[in-house]
Amino acid sequence: MTDPVTVSGLVAAHRCPLRYWHDLQRPPRESARYAIAKQIAAHLGPGLDADRVWDEVVTVMPGVAPTDRALLDEWVAACRANRWPRLELRDRPVRSQRLGLVGQVDWVAPDLASCAVVRASRAPTFGVTGADRVRAAAYALCLEEERGRPLDEVTLLYVPSGALRRYVPQPRDRRAVLRALAAARRVQEGRVPPKPAEAPCDRCPHGETCGGGARSGAAIL
Ligand code: SF4
Repeated sequence: MTDPVTVSGLVAAHRCPLRYWHDLQRPPRESARYAIAKQIAAHLGPGLDADRVWDEVVTVMPGVAPTDRALLDEWVAACRANRWPRLELRDRPVRSQRLGLVGQVDWVAPDLASCAVVRASRAPTFGVTGADRVRAAAYALCLEEERGRPLDEVTLLYVPSGALRRYVPQPRDRRAVLRALAAARRVQEGRVPPKPAEAPCDRCPHGETCGGGARSGAAIL
């Protein structure tokens, strides 16, 4: 039995199985963007104070660049323009025993009817991004196993845009989860996936080192 796949690993495999392979060779470190988004999200609502949030970011990530303060100010201004539900955010473990999937979600309703995910990316013009539809479906699949019935919705908090989007995962998103799970498992079993023809390389952190992954040796899918 292979190790369970994490939700973040699943989303990486959905974007590009080779990206997941790279992530396993060198696990990505938390970015300053994500640390800033998380701390802002922890204080969403009236009285959102940029100085206080920055103090916390420096505590969480002592090496954060002072220039990132401008990013924080911009995102705080975007969030102040919106009204926010009161959510007590914390990293809450979730798991699907059936699928072999684990993760941590930022908020879960006491009745397990919904959950919320903090994002450090901008909201699309409408709805949620393709990767976030898969992410939402993965968390929903974990939580509905615990709840015994489907979730009502998943909330995406797009901190850089100061936007909140609610999403109900669809069958096509659940199919995408199953496909990404299968791809992630093949990678975990040691097979190096080929570079997909339409891989989203422009937004990938492995752009500089990738290119030879599938041709560098090891078995190929
Ligand atoms: S650079 Fe492109 S092919 Fe390589 S891992 Fe990233 S998305 Fe995949």
